[in-house]
Amino acid sequence: MIIRTVETFRVAIPLKKPFKTALRTVNVADAIYVRIQLEDGREGYGEAPPTHVITGESLASIEFAIEEVFKPLLIGKDLRFHESLFQSLHHAMTHNTSAKAAVDMALYDLLAQEAGLPLYQYLGGAKSELTTDYTVSVNTPTEMANDAVGYVLNGFHILKVKVGTGEIVDDIKRIKAIREVIGPDIKLRLDANQGWTPKEAVRAITQLEQENFNIEFVEQPVLAHDIEGLKYVTQHTLIPIMADESVFSIYDAKRVIEMRAADLINIKLMKAGGIYQALKIASLAASYDMDCMTGSMIETKLGVGAAAHFAASQTNIIYYDFDAPLMLKQDLIQGGIQYEGAKITFRTAPGLGIERVNKGGI
Ligand code: MG
Repeated sequence: MIIRTVETFRVAIPLKKPFKTALRTVNVADAIYVRIQLEDGREGYGEAPPTHVITGESLASIEFAIEEVFKPLLIGKDLRFHESLFQSLHHAMTHNTSAKAAVDMALYDLLAQEAGLPLYQYLGGAKSELTTDYTVSVNTPTEMANDAVGYVLNGFHILKVKVGTGEIVDDIKRIKAIREVIGPDIKLRLDANQGWTPKEAVRAITQLEQENFNIEFVEQPVLAHDIEGLKYVTQHTLIPIMADESVFSIYDAKRVIEMRAADLINIKLMKAGGIYQALKIASLAASYDMDCMTGSMIETKLGVGAAAHFAASQTNIIYYDFDAPLMLKQDLIQGGIQYEGAKITFRTAPGLGIERVNKGGI
């Protein structure tokens, strides 16, 4: 399993509707795709989006990391000895977690191909089907309620609602408007994307509890670095609190878990630096009986597919946020995960099951 080439190329796909959170608005899904080829001709694929507001990475920085730092480490190496390869990948450069994730998932694609198993099975998983939520971007209450109804009519029974901009009273109005039109049976989870102060978060979440809006959990209420603030929110509310931007590495996860600063963790390959590290975070959480979600950035079906295989392999990952490919106007991937409404299924093909990657986009 000698690695012969590592190549990168850029893709850009417009979104059907702007994706708006407390942190950013996205109109186009940009990404670097990576293709790693073995001497026997087999190819593994990976993806990294430039989510600079979260990971600090740009298209140029991802290209630099892969082309200048990781590629020289990988060429000529034998993938059979992958444990030391993954470690050298992570030690070669600090941060740059999405660039690492792109390379890592391409290597896992090849390892699972070698084993002749779909990646989730190679990782020991048995979940052959996942249900994703769909994200309602933050807008006026009326627009959000209209969007929510549309997603429900398209078969999504779990909605993730972006909040955390403007006043608390606006966020309450948003949830109220959505709950009124979708009825009581649709699951609602919220994501404030660091938009509240700890006290605002407690005030907002307490009101949501009193209004009986039946919220499944609230993601990242406060600033990523404010773990004490996150703990304050977790201790003063009843709705489960999930850490997202606060947890990139296993060290972050350890701190959050040991401080009891959150009830749940959102593990993303783009924050962890790929599957190798994400597996460690999931294991740590499992040892504390903590459930997790796996989500993605604004990624195409390639990156989200790898995340879905990872999520399907872990018993304590029970929430799935894999709607990003559904927001795109175009799909460059032939093969890979399959969507049917909110349902995601895996092919029997080995690895990520990618048949062909079309170059391009806008
Ligand atoms: Mg989030």
